[in-house]
Amino acid sequence: MSENYDVVVIGAGPAGYHAAIRAAQLGMKVACIDAALGKDGKPALGGTCLRVGCIPSKAMLDSSRQFWNMGHLFGDHGISFKDAKIDVETMVGRKDKIVKQFTGGIAMLFKANKVTAYYGFAQLQPGNVVKVKQHDDTEVELKGTNVILAAGSDSIELPFAKFDGQTIVDNVGALDFTEVPKRLAVIGAGVIGLELGSVWKRLGAEVTILEALPDFLAVADAEVAKAAAKEFKKQGLEIKLGAKVSATEVTGKGKKQEVVVTYTDASGEQTLTVDKLLVAVGRRAATKGVLAEGTGVQLNERGQIVVDEHCHTGVDGVWAIGDCVRGPMLAHKGFEEGIAVAELIAGLPGHVNFDTIPWVIYTEPEIAWVGKTEQQLKAEGVPYKAGSFPFAANGRAVAMSEPAGFVKVLAHAETDRVLGMHLVGVNVSELVHEGVLTMEFSGSADDLARICHAHPSLSEVVHDAAMAVSKRAIHKAN
Ligand code: NAD
Repeated sequence: MSENYDVVVIGAGPAGYHAAIRAAQLGMKVACIDAALGKDGKPALGGTCLRVGCIPSKAMLDSSRQFWNMGHLFGDHGISFKDAKIDVETMVGRKDKIVKQFTGGIAMLFKANKVTAYYGFAQLQPGNVVKVKQHDDTEVELKGTNVILAAGSDSIELPFAKFDGQTIVDNVGALDFTEVPKRLAVIGAGVIGLELGSVWKRLGAEVTILEALPDFLAVADAEVAKAAAKEFKKQGLEIKLGAKVSATEVTGKGKKQEVVVTYTDASGEQTLTVDKLLVAVGRRAATKGVLAEGTGVQLNERGQIVVDEHCHTGVDGVWAIGDCVRGPMLAHKGFEEGIAVAELIAGLPGHVNFDTIPWVIYTEPEIAWVGKTEQQLKAEGVPYKAGSFPFAANGRAVAMSEPAGFVKVLAHAETDRVLGMHLVGVNVSELVHEGVLTMEFSGSADDLARICHAHPSLSEVVHDAAMAVSKRAIHKAN
């Protein structure tokens, strides 16, 4: 006998829990299934984002930023102290407490919205039936008028650098080191490599990031990537470009364990010996075992579930959202897809605008962008104007001793419509939303320039950059 639901959601990560709660708000009977367990061995909702991604990494970034500032910023303010120390156990414990608060928060939201949670591994069968193998080894069968697949993603493992959870780790292991490694190597100068590399660098590790591509942060605007690289270099974060790792070997035992990393760069084959190795070379859709034979749902060559622009799989009543489908692997992209699908099921309009999804890298300085880069506009032959403004000329940023970076606004040369905003600097994770809003409302650089911004505030850098598009920035020579 199967239990009937209007909507069955597989996965309670950012995409899945948004879909489940929104569907319940719209009056549907909803079940949501998740297999994940927390560090305490108990079921933990919230997916990668809450358990081992966005939230814990931000907790650790904040702890390490405070520690770094003691040694690098406090002196400017005349603050001195003796012997700053970091207790890694306390720092990790704080992170774990935050994770527990938020994963528990999803369970409470499910209860409040009458979403039934099931804990175990779910597999879609033909005919919209979902089989759940629960943690106590019992099996339940759920039937959904609609099924939403939100299975998320897993770290990609390199065949020559298998995760052992101790010496060679992914993002999960790198959030739980018990002490600051003396030497840490990171494979991949992407989002995870830069964020977690920064955490351990600020706490005192010697960090070397090995990136296979010849360009640093090729996904970002080239000027932003260049400015960020300059700041990371000042911080002592070593980033080797064009460095392709081909082998690793773990030697020694217990605390004496080391990893010898072999890589090839322009000067030939090299080796690097470190205490810990973080592999951050991307993630892949976690679709293994999620689909039984004969469901009709298709996977592409990257293991992602094939969907149309409305996240529909082509099988009646079966949808897929978040990291397990095409598009950027960002929690907030999953949030929006979850909400859109729940609304489409309810017969409402539901849509995600991929052109205005913001990107943020939580390094110091932060990096953020929305829309097209200058390189993309050039390649597409779109005529554009650029206006930029530095944080070094902003009173608030200088008062905070945070003068690094700039904001750049890109607008169409003829219509003035904003096509992109690229930021590097303090708190740009918040400022980027001025670009998102402007673009979402099809606004122009002139619209942004005519909006009153509070003084003194960091947002004035966005305002001045918008004014600079038409060469009328007040606080710099145009
Ligand atoms: P990524 O795709 O951002 O970066 C991986 C990097 O590894 C790339 O630069 C790639 O060129 C490099 N690489 C691949 N193979 C290599 C090799 N053999 N040797 C050296 N370099 C190699 O992937 P990630 O950093 O692992 O992050 C995974 C996903 O998680 C991304 O999609 C990211 O958007 C998401 N994420 C987002 C945030 C955020 O929004 N702040 C934070 C963490 C993760």
